[in-house]
Amino acid sequence: MSLLLRNALLLDPAAGDYTEGDLRCEDGRIVETGSGLHAAGDTRVVDVAGAPVVPGLIDAHVHVTALSADLAALGSLSPSYVTAHSARIMGQMLDRGFTTVRDASGADHGLADAQAEGLIRGPRVLFCGKGLSQTGGHGDLRGRGVNQRDDHPCCAGVGRVADGVEAVRVAARDELRKGAHHIKVMASGGVASPTDRIDSTQYSMDELRAVVEEARAANRYVAAHAYTARAVNRALEAGVRTIEHGNLLDDSSVELFLRHDAFLVPTLVTYWALKEEGMAFGLPEPSWRKVDEVLDAGLRALERAARGGVRLAYGSDLLGGMHRHQNQEFRLRREVQQPIDVLRAATTNAAELAGLAGEIGTLAVGARADLLVLDGDPLEDIGVLAEPRRIRHVVQGGEVVTG
Ligand code: ZN
Ligand code: ZN
Repeated sequence: MSLLLRNALLLDPAAGDYTEGDLRCEDGRIVETGSGLHAAGDTRVVDVAGAPVVPGLIDAHVHVTALSADLAALGSLSPSYVTAHSARIMGQMLDRGFTTVRDASGADHGLADAQAEGLIRGPRVLFCGKGLSQTGGHGDLRGRGVNQRDDHPCCAGVGRVADGVEAVRVAARDELRKGAHHIKVMASGGVASPTDRIDSTQYSMDELRAVVEEARAANRYVAAHAYTARAVNRALEAGVRTIEHGNLLDDSSVELFLRHDAFLVPTLVTYWALKEEGMAFGLPEPSWRKVDEVLDAGLRALERAARGGVRLAYGSDLLGGMHRHQNQEFRLRREVQQPIDVLRAATTNAAELAGLAGEIGTLAVGARADLLVLDGDPLEDIGVLAEPRRIRHVVQGGEVVTG
């Protein structure tokens, strides 16, 4: 099966410019670019008439199992019911141009395999299983009055509780055993958790270091949920590779990002969406009140990190009915960044973060044939990517999957 796009403007995100030409895909890979390429007998030819073609987008922070903003409820739903919703959520992400996503807790090897085998239409899923949380941390979703814990491994949920160096090692090893692409730890309080504070730090340094050591032993890395500079800096010092959110980081954090060659994954759109619509989609009111602590700070943190030269990846972190705003992150970031830099966050930078540089997030020969044909130039106006209807075709693994 071969696909040939004719007369395209092919974007190289690293260089930040276009080349006019054709692009040919075969067996899921980009095999040739240039002008006047030859189409063999069974090749599907699409003349895109000068349209910009960009690599398929990568969202480095999603929760494909989050069918509601009431994350505590997930564990009491039937796993098959959650899977049905995940399939719907993933299909809609693909329609929005996302051909790969990094799940930041909740998705498991079953969803990733089902997508890879073509049973579920959606982005390729880089999963971590359940995020590690201390008792009373961001992944412990019990209310104050609940003492029992039901952590049945087959039930859906975004967190698993583990306390102490030995227990976090076992939890990390267990997620790695199940094929985790990365390990997620909750290193500060959060919005959706009922009993913690946004400004709390979570896990001792010894626990964080133990998780990092386990991930590194398996040639994997750790992603940490963290808001304040205090929490972000502890995680970076422990060797965490990606900081999720980071809304309240400061200049000392920027320095640590550079020193440790770490990535920041801001998720601005989710705070905006939670404030506007969170309660309508299941976010409990006490959690909704916490949104204000991080909402306005997010854009300033992004600006500070970008100015300081921190590597940034695209994240959305949306829940429930708010998933439909996934592309609005492009629009929010343009307030403080150039279009090419926002695009890099969702292509080359995210690929590098995932350890898949050259494989995804690029139109280079040899890469997976994931790409988008657009009806406008995102380098002129990144808002083109904020409107899924302006994506004419999504191509994934060399096949036109939408439009
Ligand atoms: Zn988080
Ligand atoms: Zn998240």
